[in-house]
Amino acid sequence: MATNVTEQESREVAEAAREAEWKLPSFGKQLFLGDFRLDLIHPQPRLDPEAVEKGERFIADLSTFLEKEVDPLQIERDSKIPDSVIDGLKKIGALGMKVYPEYGGLGLSQVYYNKALAIVGVYHSSLCTLLSAHQSIGVAEPLRQFGSEEQKRKWLPMVAKDHVSAFLLTEPDVGSDPARMASIATPVDELPVAKGYDDIVATPVNGGYEVDGRKLWATNGTIADIVVVMAKVPKSEGHRGGITAFVLPYNTEGITIEHRNQFMGLHGIENSVTRLEKVFVPAENRIAREGDGLRIALTTLNTGRLALMAIAVGASKWATKIARQWANERVQWGRPVGKHDAVAQKLAFIAGSAFGLEAMLDVSARLADNKANDIRIEAALCKLYGSELSWKVIDELLQVRGGRGYETAASLKARGEKPVPVEQLMRDMRVNRIFEGSSEIMHLLIAREAVDTHLQAAGDLLLGSGDFKQKADAARKAGLFYGKWLPQLAVGKGQNPRSYDEFGQLAAYLRYVERASRKLARSTFYGMGRWQAKLENKQSFLGRLVDIGAELFAISATVVYADTIGREQPERKTEAIELAELFCKMAKRRADALFHELWANDDDERYAAAQNVLSGRYTWLEEGIPDPSGEGPLMAPLT
Ligand SMILES: Cc1cc2nc3c(=O)[nH]c(=O)nc-3n(C[C@H](O)[C@H](O)[C@H](O)COP(=O)(O)OP(=O)(O)OC[C@H]3O[C@@H](n4cnc5c(N)ncnc54)[C@H](O)[C@@H]3O)c2cc1C
Repeated sequence: MATNVTEQESREVAEAAREAEWKLPSFGKQLFLGDFRLDLIHPQPRLDPEAVEKGERFIADLSTFLEKEVDPLQIERDSKIPDSVIDGLKKIGALGMKVYPEYGGLGLSQVYYNKALAIVGVYHSSLCTLLSAHQSIGVAEPLRQFGSEEQKRKWLPMVAKDHVSAFLLTEPDVGSDPARMASIATPVDELPVAKGYDDIVATPVNGGYEVDGRKLWATNGTIADIVVVMAKVPKSEGHRGGITAFVLPYNTEGITIEHRNQFMGLHGIENSVTRLEKVFVPAENRIAREGDGLRIALTTLNTGRLALMAIAVGASKWATKIARQWANERVQWGRPVGKHDAVAQKLAFIAGSAFGLEAMLDVSARLADNKANDIRIEAALCKLYGSELSWKVIDELLQVRGGRGYETAASLKARGEKPVPVEQLMRDMRVNRIFEGSSEIMHLLIAREAVDTHLQAAGDLLLGSGDFKQKADAARKAGLFYGKWLPQLAVGKGQNPRSYDEFGQLAAYLRYVERASRKLARSTFYGMGRWQAKLENKQSFLGRLVDIGAELFAISATVVYADTIGREQPERKTEAIELAELFCKMAKRRADALFHELWANDDDERYAAAQNVLSGRYTWLEEGIPDPSGEGPLMAPLT
């Protein structure tokens, strides 16, 4: 049955799930407010030597395992990760990278978890997706953050060792909009004990929930042992209701795997359509309270999103190597192709982007380990920016490789060439812009955080509700805030040509960020003044604000990271500064273009044109071309 939900209701559900409080300082939040707090990310926290030793040991084990036991071509050919590979990953502890040692995991730092994902991801993206779905969003992370001590003691040792987990949120009618969730968890007082694996089965309980629903696209969903399921508890007496998270053995009676989905890329992933029919879940398996499910999902993703940046970094660093080797060796028109300007530009873009992405990841991951900052904006920017930029990097790599970029690795091998899987990586990387928050949704999510302070100061005015007195009060409150805030945006350190001199030739980029951060805040303010409550519908404008913020964070992180390299690996200092400058120049150019387009664009005309397309005004344009898609509904009925 389709759920009828208005736009307002969807917004309310998303808003209720939002983490409203800011307990720790946030570089990203301040950046959008025009307050460039370099001190929050510089100097970068030092790596803990114990964590480094443990991390390096694991990376060595992992690399040996990948080299000896994994054949990426076989995964691609069979569209399957062999059982022996999954068993091998279990054996080296890869399933428990993020689980604390007291619950049987390795307890790697965020920095080393990312490094491991980057390495695995380059070997074969499906391996990385398995591991990341298992522990960035699967059972471990929600329980680590929200589980009771009992739940942690029961489930974490299993998922840390040899029980694969999955996260079941999406449904045929629920993609970006969880308010449409149709899976229902009906409270029941007494039911028999659920039947599951002997080692996972719950102790007898009185009461719990009966879950019914159909879940789509669950990664690991055809091989999982334990899953987190999101379902809506109806509101009733004694039940707060709302979207709720449950952890349960996957072989509980009533669970059926209906289909293994196949995709453009990620050919080895085990992704399911899963039906739940009268699945009994004991109350003790509920994670946190009823109605906390979405908040859990969103908070889990706060650092979980860094996994996608790790994948982006791995891919971009590998792209640098492949592009370098190929552009040196391939000679056309009398010169190695890398010496032709058009290809040289791409090489510079690929290498500079790899450095910038690595910088953003390193800065964010060290902050995550250090736990002194709130990094939800930085992690979200990493997901958005990393998935978008690395996609362009791989696209340019494919162009540099020419026809060989488009040829499959197996075909290259069959005719005696090195099986470089650029074609595969291009297919594999595309989905990063869609899952774990599509780029469009990330824009909205980050924009919401960027305007949060304004909503708190002037929300009542912006929304235009209330009577005359309420409006007058709201105006006074807003006046107090803006009277103090706006003048601060007029001048700053970035105007002083000597500021940030300790960063040498990179100082100019920090001065730029300081100035641009104030300009970004002013632009946000103008946008609010111009569109007021309608600003939330100006997605292109908001998207550009977010993209500018992302470029500014990227530049800041790059300068800071180059400085860290200079201190931690002095022999690489000069090269690091060169790469940082290369990246900063490109990022600054993009930010400047975005600033310009904030006010010089054809957004309104294009929106109107899109409505014409939707209404069918131009269907004659589609005539004369067959549609090979065949028959069937665009969305299968839910029942
Ligand atoms: C390979 C793969 C693995 C996955 N793994 C999992 C998993 O393990 N667990 C799980 O629960 N889910 C999983 N998903 C689901 C994934 O998270 C969703 O695909 C994603 O949330 C987007 O939803 P959708 O595809 O239904 O797109 P839709 O929500 O239908 O969106 C369609 C388009 O509209 C845009 N859009 C939607 N709403 C808005 C808006 N308000 N404003 C502007 N633009 C909007 C979207 O960005 C997109 O471009 C997976 C998907 C894939 C493809």
